[in-house]
Amino acid sequence: MPTRTPQNLVGMDYAAAGAALAFREPIIDIHTHIHGANATKVYAEAARAYNVRLTYTQTRPDDIEHVKGVLGERVRFVAIPNFTIADKAVAFGSGYLDLIRQLASEHGSKMMKLWNAPRTRDWFTGADRDDYIQLDGKWRVAAADLAVSLGMMIKTHTGDPDTWFSARYTDRAKYGLKREHYRGLEVMLKRYSSVPWIAAHMGGSPEDLVFLDQLLERHANLHLDTSATKWIVRELSKHPHDAVLAFFEKWQDRIIFGSDIVTMDDQLVKKTPEQQRMSVMSDLADSPESAFDLYCSRYFALRTMFEGWEGRREDRPSPIADPDLKMCEPSKYDEWSSPTLRGFALPREILEKVYYKNAERVVIGWERGTWRA
Ligand SMILES: [Zn+2]
Repeated sequence: MPTRTPQNLVGMDYAAAGAALAFREPIIDIHTHIHGANATKVYAEAARAYNVRLTYTQTRPDDIEHVKGVLGERVRFVAIPNFTIADKAVAFGSGYLDLIRQLASEHGSKMMKLWNAPRTRDWFTGADRDDYIQLDGKWRVAAADLAVSLGMMIKTHTGDPDTWFSARYTDRAKYGLKREHYRGLEVMLKRYSSVPWIAAHMGGSPEDLVFLDQLLERHANLHLDTSATKWIVRELSKHPHDAVLAFFEKWQDRIIFGSDIVTMDDQLVKKTPEQQRMSVMSDLADSPESAFDLYCSRYFALRTMFEGWEGRREDRPSPIADPDLKMCEPSKYDEWSSPTLRGFALPREILEKVYYKNAERVVIGWERGTWRA
């Protein structure tokens, strides 16, 4: 009897489930965080099981050689601030400029990330906080100017789940309203309009397809990635089939597959009670087998949502527990609860675009100088 874990609630064989999916063309994953030489090997197995041939990872500089050593031509690196630097003013300020230069010169990176989740507001509280927390603030502009001068396109994390704004970010003075986080994004999309942008996690607003529709209408250089599996599965699955189908039909050239898989060697080992809660991400797995399940679960859930359950439009429970359910409604849910995973069974032409053709045209096109808005 297979063990039940939050990543695999019904003891599925994720390798077999990957092999059974009907879409067979190689996929590009535009959004991962791959770390750890050994975890990268496990990730490579999961990627193979789900036919992912290339990923764009946001990896700390000290781990890039390990990851490259395992994935070789199957990986490209995205510049992102180094969160492990204790002085966040350095991490998001001068240190990020240094890192962008390093990624460009040593690793040929052609993409940078303006990470602007509400958590930045926990770190920057002084008089100069807007230089860091606003997407059009001084240090964000400095980073984007430098990156674009070095030939990089831009990815951003703007916003966070509505569930977090209702349950965690209740201090309005500090976090503001979710919509206010998009003001700076729109300023920057116009300021760097000759550069392709990817707004991660369905633009941070999978909850509101009308809002995303208007955002995409206003900015021809904007693209969305599908990453952050639990969030995207939970929220897209709440929309009626036809609404999601219509959205993907209309924006089929502007949506790019991404998972937000996070790998690290800590996920391969059993932790002592003191080590537990070391970090939320490291606690998600404790052996190569459970790490394989963890990585596969993200590909399985996203692909099943897009391709349908056995290719069919159908609703079934997601195989991944989603702690946000309990966070928002503790009397109704527990830590094992999972949301509905709605199989949308998108048409094949749309799957091809979302899974790899858009990444080839926009991201690889940008690298080769052929992208046009
Ligand atoms: Zn991410």
